[in-house]
Amino acid sequence: MADFSQDLKARATTEIEKYSQDFKKISEEIWNNPELNYDEHKAHALLANFLEGKGFHVERSYLGIQTAFKATFGDNTGPNVCVICEYDALPDIGHACGHNLISEAGIAAALGIKAALETHGAPKGLLTVMGTPAEEGGGGKIKLIDKGAFENIDVAMMVHPSPGNIVRCKTLALVSLEVKFHGKAAHAAAFPWEGINALDAAVMTYNNISVLRQQMKPTWRVHGIISNGGAKPNIIPELTKMEYYLRAPTRNEVKDLYGKVMACYEAAAKATGCTFEMTETVFYEDVVSNPTLSDLYKTNSTHLGVVYEDLPEVPLGSTDMGNVSYVVPSIHPVYKIGDGSQVNHTREFTAVSNTPEAHQNTLTVAKAMSMTVVDVLTNPAVLEQIKKEFATAV
Ligand SMILES: [Zn+2]
Ligand SMILES: [Zn+2]
Repeated sequence: MADFSQDLKARATTEIEKYSQDFKKISEEIWNNPELNYDEHKAHALLANFLEGKGFHVERSYLGIQTAFKATFGDNTGPNVCVICEYDALPDIGHACGHNLISEAGIAAALGIKAALETHGAPKGLLTVMGTPAEEGGGGKIKLIDKGAFENIDVAMMVHPSPGNIVRCKTLALVSLEVKFHGKAAHAAAFPWEGINALDAAVMTYNNISVLRQQMKPTWRVHGIISNGGAKPNIIPELTKMEYYLRAPTRNEVKDLYGKVMACYEAAAKATGCTFEMTETVFYEDVVSNPTLSDLYKTNSTHLGVVYEDLPEVPLGSTDMGNVSYVVPSIHPVYKIGDGSQVNHTREFTAVSNTPEAHQNTLTVAKAMSMTVVDVLTNPAVLEQIKKEFATAV
C-alpha cells in the first residue's frame, strides 16, 4: 500500500500544479472584492461555480445559510474527509487575515484529492468541501455545526496564513458578551434620588473587572467597551450597554473566567439597584489539533520543503475552527506568507496576502493537505488511531 499511496500523492500534487493559475485567479478575485461576515456573495458564487464546473455536487446557501456551501465528490461508503474554505474579510482593511488564500488552498486541495480518488484502484472515500462564512466574529462554523453539517464527517482540515509555520497552533477559546443594565431615568439635578443609575453599574463593572485582572492567569484576556453610556448628562442613565470579550486557552478556563466576570456584573447591579440582562453572542472554542493528523500533515509538508522553526507558543487569537475541532478530529495549521514581520489584521498583511510567494506557499500547503487525506484513505489503521485520540481528547 505504501507505494500506491505515493502514486496517489503524486497524482494529487500534479493535479494541483496543473490548475495552479485557476486557483490563483480565484484567490485574487476574492482579495480584490473583500466581503464581510455573511455578505460574501461573490466569493460564494465564485467558489461554488468553480467546484461545480470541476464535477463536484454543490449545495449553495447550504442549510439555509446564504453564503455557506457544501461541495462533495466521491463515494459515501468510504471515510468522509472535509476540507474547509473561509472567505470573509475585515472592515476597512480588506483581506488582512488572508482568507482568500484559505479558499485557494481549499479548492486546490479538493482538486488534488479528487484526482487521487479517481485513480484506478484508489480506496473509496467521500470528499466534502465546506464553505464556511463569517469567521471574523460571526461564527459561521458554529451555525453549520448546530444545523448538523459536520455530523457525518470523519476528519476536517484547513490551513491559515500567518507570519510563521506552525502545525499545532494555539488559539484561545472566546466568549463574547453583551450586557445591558436597566436603571430608572430621573432629572439629574432636580430629583436625582428618584433615579437608578445604569451608568454607575457599567462603570462599577468595568472597575470590578479591572480589579479582578490582578488575580487572572497570564494567559487570560478580558477586554471590553461601554457602547452605550446614557443619553444626556441631565438625565440619570436608565440604560447602558457593555460589550466584552473573554478569552482563555481552553473552554473550561473560559468558563472559570465567565463565572468571575459574572460576579462583577452582579455586584455592580446589586450596589446600584439596577437589573441586567446578558446575551452571549458567540462562543469560539480553542482548537484541539488531532496528534496523528498533525504528524501526517507535518511529514507531508516538510517533504514539500516547509520548514518548522521553534517558534514561541503564543496563542493566535480565536477561531470558530475550534468549535469544529470539538465535534470532528481536526487540524488548523498556520503557514508563513511574507517575511515574518507582517502580522494578521494589519494593512501589511493584506498586501502580502496577494503576492506570488503567498500563492506559491498556499499551493504547497494545499498539496500537504491532499497528501494527508491520501494517508487517511489508504490506511484504515490511521483513521482508527485518529478517532481513538479524538475520543480521549475532547
Ligand atoms: Zn482574522
Ligand atoms: Zn483568519
